[in-house]
Amino acid sequence: MKAEKGTPAGALSPDSPAALDTSRARAIVLFGSPGSGKGTQSKYLVEWLGIPQISTGDMLRDHMRRGDAIGLSVTDRMRAGSLVSDELVNELVRERISEPDCDNGFILDGYPRTPAQAEEMLRLVAERGAEEVVIHLVVDYNVIISRMTGRRVCPKCGTLYNSVSRPPKIEGICDLDGTALVVREDDREDVVRRRLAEYERQTQPLIDFFRRSSRRLIEVDASHDKPEAVFRKIQARLESVNGG
Ligand SMILES: [Zn+2]
Repeated sequence: MKAEKGTPAGALSPDSPAALDTSRARAIVLFGSPGSGKGTQSKYLVEWLGIPQISTGDMLRDHMRRGDAIGLSVTDRMRAGSLVSDELVNELVRERISEPDCDNGFILDGYPRTPAQAEEMLRLVAERGAEEVVIHLVVDYNVIISRMTGRRVCPKCGTLYNSVSRPPKIEGICDLDGTALVVREDDREDVVRRRLAEYERQTQPLIDFFRRSSRRLIEVDASHDKPEAVFRKIQARLESVNGG
């Protein structure tokens, strides 16, 4: 059964992105740096569209837990310090998206990771009769860095604070138990900068690939608004590529 969402395309302005055929399923690929709120937006999309999120990382870990042939080959590769092959990941995705719960669409998480995988993804999605929509959460890295490095945690009770959005009553002290707050390893500025640089290195070639090859690239500013407001922007853009 296909979802009927929005109205048929036809009234698009010449500048609009290519119309999304409403009779076909959406294959959504979501890109966002650490601190961009990608996990939250993904959850909102799953709820709104009623489609599954497919995580290649989870699938691989599943195989490893089961200790089947795929799991064993992946374990060997990881022990050897090499990446899981494109062929294997592509095949996992191909099998997973052929399942009936993907009939109305799906969200891809952690895939594609390379332009070669992206090319194969477009083929698999077309073969599945779906339409890809790439969503890029664009962030100002300075905002992300100040947001993430402003985080403090109470080592005693685990309460999280943020010097910008949720400061403690007394600077550096937990409101609940008076313990001195600490910076988590993950939130140290040099660690945040390194993770952002790594994300940029891996993701920019993919964004460039989709810019060149697909007109359904939705870029949404995610630095300044609350997650709900960012999601409303995504919804509006998805509805406009839907022709509705
Ligand atoms: Zn505390």
